[in-house]
Amino acid sequence: MESSVKRLVRPNILSLQPYTCARNEYSGEARAWLDANENSMIDGLNRYPDPLQVEVKKRLAALRGVGVGNIFLGVGSDECIDIVYRTFCRPGIDNVVAIDPTYGMYSVCAAINDVEYRPVRLRPDFSIDEEALFAAMDENTKVLWICSPNNPTGNAFPVEQLRRIASRFSGITVIDEAYVDFSPLGSMVPEIPALPRLIVMQTFSKAWAAAAMRLGIAYAHPCIIGIFNNVKYPYNINILTQREAIRVLDSADDVLRVADCLVGERERLARSLRALPVVNKVYPSDANFLLVATTDADGLYAYLRDKGVIVRNRTHVTLCAGCLRITVGTPEENTILLDALASFHGE
Ligand code: PMP
Repeated sequence: MESSVKRLVRPNILSLQPYTCARNEYSGEARAWLDANENSMIDGLNRYPDPLQVEVKKRLAALRGVGVGNIFLGVGSDECIDIVYRTFCRPGIDNVVAIDPTYGMYSVCAAINDVEYRPVRLRPDFSIDEEALFAAMDENTKVLWICSPNNPTGNAFPVEQLRRIASRFSGITVIDEAYVDFSPLGSMVPEIPALPRLIVMQTFSKAWAAAAMRLGIAYAHPCIIGIFNNVKYPYNINILTQREAIRVLDSADDVLRVADCLVGERERLARSLRALPVVNKVYPSDANFLLVATTDADGLYAYLRDKGVIVRNRTHVTLCAGCLRITVGTPEENTILLDALASFHGE
C-alpha cells in the first residue's frame, strides 16, 4: 500500500479482517447459487446485489476517465463522507479542518464519530485563506474538507489552488464536487494519479437528477478505495439503485445538456432577483443554487414559506448574514418565487 496513505489509516482498520462473501470470490454464471441462503424459489429481488457494483463503475470509469479500481460507491455522498471518518480518524484523538461556511454534514459526521472539527473562515469574497487553513492544522489533522463549488456560497475554487493545497497537505484532502457539472472550472478527478491522498466526491443527487436513488461516488487511489471496500457494509448499494444508475449513466449526454440549460436558467433568475428591492446582492454561482443577500432574510423566509415557496434561510451561517439560499427550479417555479418576492413589503 502507498506508504503516505498507510500511515494515516486507523490501526484497527489497517488490521481489519473484512467480511467476505462467496460472490466476492466467484464471478460468472454459476449453475446453482447455493452460497448465500437466499430464497431460490421466487425470482425478482431474491438475490444479493453485486457488492462491488462493477457494471455501474465501468460506465462511470469510462465517463470520468479513471479505472474501475479508482471508484467507491456509497449510499449518497453522505456515506462517502462518513466512511472517511471511520477509516482515517481516531475518535477522541484526531481532528479535521474544513472551510467555513460549507456543507453541514462534514461537521455532523465529525461529531458522530467523536472527531474534533476545525472550521476555517473563508475570506469575505468567499476565497480560501490558505495560510489560515494550514495554521489550523497539527500533527493529528487527518482530513481537510473543501467543497467546490461550495455550498452555500456557490463559488468553485480554481483547480490550480486545490492542487497546490492537496500537494502541500500531508493528510487526506477531500474535494466535494457535488455541483461540479454546473461549474466551468472543471474537476479534480484527473489529478488523482499524481495525488495519492486526494479523494474527490460526486453524487447522483444534483445534475444527475436522481437524489431519490441515494448514490454517491468517491474517486481516489486504489489503495484508499480498497480500504473503503473493507469498511463498508457488504451490500451497501441495492440492486434497484444499481440498475437505475446504469440507466441514468447510459443517458449521460442528455443529463449534461440539461445541466447546461439549468445554468442558463440560473443566470435568468439571478438577473430577475437583482432587480427586486428586497435583494441587496446575488452572489456569482457555479452551482444550481444562488446565495442571495436580502434586506430581511427571516421575514422573507417566513413570508415565502407561508406562500408555499420553500427556500433555505442561511442568515445564521458564517459570512451569510441576511442570506437566503435558493435552488434554481423549473422556469415556472422560479416565476412563482419571483412573484412572491415582488409582493413582499416587510413589517
Ligand atoms: N455534498 C454537498 C456539497 C451537498 O450540498 C450535498 C447535498 N445537499 C451532498 C453532498 C449530499 O449528497 P448526497 O445526496 O449524495 O448524500
